[in-house]
Amino acid sequence: MDKQTHSFQAEVKQILHLVTHSLYSNKEIFLRELVSNASDACDKLRFEALDKAELFEDQPNLEVRVSFDAEQHTVTISDNGIGMSAEEAIAHLGTIAKSGTREFMAKLEGDQKKDANLIGQFGVGFYSGFIVADRITVETRRAGLPADAGVRWSSEGTGDFEVETISKPGRGTDVILHLREGEDEFLKTWRLKSVISKYSDHISLPILMRKEEWNAETSEQKLTDEWEPVNKASALWARSKSEVTPEEYEAFYKQISYDSEAPLSYTHNRVEGRSEYTQLLYIPKKAPFDLWNRDKRGGVKLYVKRVFIMDDAEALMPVYLRFVKGVIDSADLPLNVSRELLQESRDVKAIREGSTKRVLSMLESLADSEDAAEREKYASFWKDFGSVLKEGVGEDHQNQERLAKLLRFASTQSDEGVSFADYVSRMKEGQEPIYYITADSLAAAKNSPQLEIFRKKGIEVLLLTDRVDEWMLSHLYEFDGKPLQSVAKGAVDLGKLQDEEEKKKAEEAAEAFKPVLERLKEALKRAPRTCA
Ligand code: ADP
Repeated sequence: MDKQTHSFQAEVKQILHLVTHSLYSNKEIFLRELVSNASDACDKLRFEALDKAELFEDQPNLEVRVSFDAEQHTVTISDNGIGMSAEEAIAHLGTIAKSGTREFMAKLEGDQKKDANLIGQFGVGFYSGFIVADRITVETRRAGLPADAGVRWSSEGTGDFEVETISKPGRGTDVILHLREGEDEFLKTWRLKSVISKYSDHISLPILMRKEEWNAETSEQKLTDEWEPVNKASALWARSKSEVTPEEYEAFYKQISYDSEAPLSYTHNRVEGRSEYTQLLYIPKKAPFDLWNRDKRGGVKLYVKRVFIMDDAEALMPVYLRFVKGVIDSADLPLNVSRELLQESRDVKAIREGSTKRVLSMLESLADSEDAAEREKYASFWKDFGSVLKEGVGEDHQNQERLAKLLRFASTQSDEGVSFADYVSRMKEGQEPIYYITADSLAAAKNSPQLEIFRKKGIEVLLLTDRVDEWMLSHLYEFDGKPLQSVAKGAVDLGKLQDEEEKKKAEEAAEAFKPVLERLKEALKRAPRTCA
């Protein structure tokens, strides 16, 4: 194929504009993104080669190489993974497959920090290369295609890109960044190494760089032809808990979630029994931009015996826990498992149930902690994720009771943080139902005339103002044996009670007055008639 020029999709142009003009802090993350793409490409090859071993050609060892050329001002990230055909290069590096571009741009435009770190969250990591480069050349060949089916893709990151056929004997992809003026800091081994160990230590493939040697004559470090690994390359979750530091857990979380904040909580366990697996699950501090998208796949990666199988394996977590991030590594599933198979597998069902319980325990231990700081963490979790957890009340009958205990509401006693248990502990003697009112806003709920009688009687009422509350209540009828009852019905009952009480009081008063009346009548009878 002779050289062709293609135009970027409109969204890509917008992204590129932002990337090159707006992202000033954390520029170094381009390396994390490109190494992560390289590692994904190796995972994909390993997966496709499960039933097509010839794809490995004569290079069975998958690896990523990072190098630089100080004279040419280039940094190159190479992998011997799956590579791309010409059509794939045009489609994958010229258009954006995922949704979320608009949110990404809104966030960047609103964000004063202009933090490049955001970019990975939105599935546009490749374009982060243009933060430091004013031209990117990609040379790639898809595994299984002949050497002369290589492709060179090249662009200055503005309106268009060029593609042409080349010969590329080794399969996989080289991404060559031609650095912008002023970005020469990345032309140093120690600088690149430090970025790699900061973000990519947990990539389970070796990341190699050229070894340096001290040259006594020129008194400087000199690159040799020998390559050495610069990351730890061990799967963090496969290590035992006691060997992993909290900092490593945190770094791993940031790497898989693209979150710049530490997680709220995490749990790491090796589960044995009917199904054998390792789980490393994290709860984020803040809700992601697309939390409300119920079609969004979950955040849990599936591995089988340390081999990466798929991202976002939704069968591993119920939809209402879609904010959980992490890794599940199964010892039992077949390596060639597909999404469809996952939905039906009994092992997966056991994993999902076990993992759901773990997440709920994590939340319970925060919510019920003796430590006020932990309970505060739960309160902040509830603000961001409470509405999503409520979906579980209707969807996960097995855990409904546990979920009900985790719910928090506003009430006539407190504007937030009231649990059913708090409510029950304050119930009036003889009060049977838990009373609630639903409304569009807290103010509307508080001002409802229906609450009058409850105020008078000192009975607490839960104020439900979340859109999902009514739906949730159509699935939840009681807590701890106490029926949930709307004030509309409650007021009638209480009103009746009130009428009855008043009638009784009147009768009692009448009863008490009877002797007086009798005596009065007697007195009247005996009194002299003055006027006949
Ligand atoms: P994401 O990786 O989140 O899909 P990117 O913008 O980083 O988004 O990359 C877009 C696509 O380009 C990838 O999904 C992949 O198909 C392709 N790609 C990027 N880098 C490589 C690589 N090193 N080898 C093979 N394909 C790649």
